[in-house]
Amino acid sequence: MKPARHAMDKALNEHRTPCGTDGDRWISEDRTTREAVAPLCNTCPLLDPCRALAVEERPTWGVYAGTDYTKDPKPRKAAA
Ligand code: SF4
Repeated sequence: MKPARHAMDKALNEHRTPCGTDGDRWISEDRTTREAVAPLCNTCPLLDPCRALAVEERPTWGVYAGTDYTKDPKPRKAAA
């Protein structure tokens, strides 16, 4: 197991997090939902290890440490 994942898994057993009770909103398909929950990460005791996890795992979906890493599956066309 990679170091940041190991640290995060251990910390999650010891702390409550905002996403711990309603994590589906952090991985919602709805962008406005993800935007609404992202600021809640600022109150999380695991903000730093969660950020390290995102750096290590390079997620392509969901909010980690207040940042939405979701790649838009339907990129908008650039204006002509
Ligand atoms: S910082 Fe990470 S663990 Fe904490 S609420 Fe945000 S996504 Fe969840």
